[in-house]
Amino acid sequence: MPAGTIDWVERLHALVDEAAAPVERASAERLRCRAGCSDCCVDGLTVFTIEAAVIRRHHADLLATAAAHPPGACAFLDGDGRCRIYAHRPYVCRTQGLPLRWLEEDEIDEEIIESRDICPKNVDGGPPLEELEADACWTLGPFEQRLAQRQHETDGERGERVALRSLFASEGDRRRLPVIGS
Ligand code: SF4
Repeated sequence: MPAGTIDWVERLHALVDEAAAPVERASAERLRCRAGCSDCCVDGLTVFTIEAAVIRRHHADLLATAAAHPPGACAFLDGDGRCRIYAHRPYVCRTQGLPLRWLEEDEIDEEIIESRDICPKNVDGGPPLEELEADACWTLGPFEQRLAQRQHETDGERGERVALRSLFASEGDRRRLPVIGS
């Protein structure tokens, strides 16, 4: 992966954090997101290879020598429910917990429909989601599009993704274990 591409992803992550900060401040009273809460750190997450390259750049030792969290939660969680790559976590992890909104076109009426959602732990302590101003929510779409565009430019339009769990060498070893018994 070209170093310039990895640098670009890191700048994008910084922009995401910057853009998410006012949304987080606006919802501060309702957010129960704390170190050790890992409800959104589910197993099976995949990321574009350009984001995986950020993790590989900063956490080579961890990936080479540490064990992944057992299946059932994200491989990068430690035993206390904390992210072991927090500063370099992927885009998808940076806005979880915030009030989210996204726009979709209704296929029948061809109208733009807005949907909203939030972690169940963050429902209380603030106005109903539907009453929030749009800029008090994180809008899904624009940053995802930028990431996807860069990924497609990098890998010849394949849009390749990789499972977070698969980044651990120990997981590779596990996959290579012979099947015992019948
Ligand atoms: S990378 Fe970190 S923040 Fe993202 S799901 Fe895994 S443990 Fe959670």
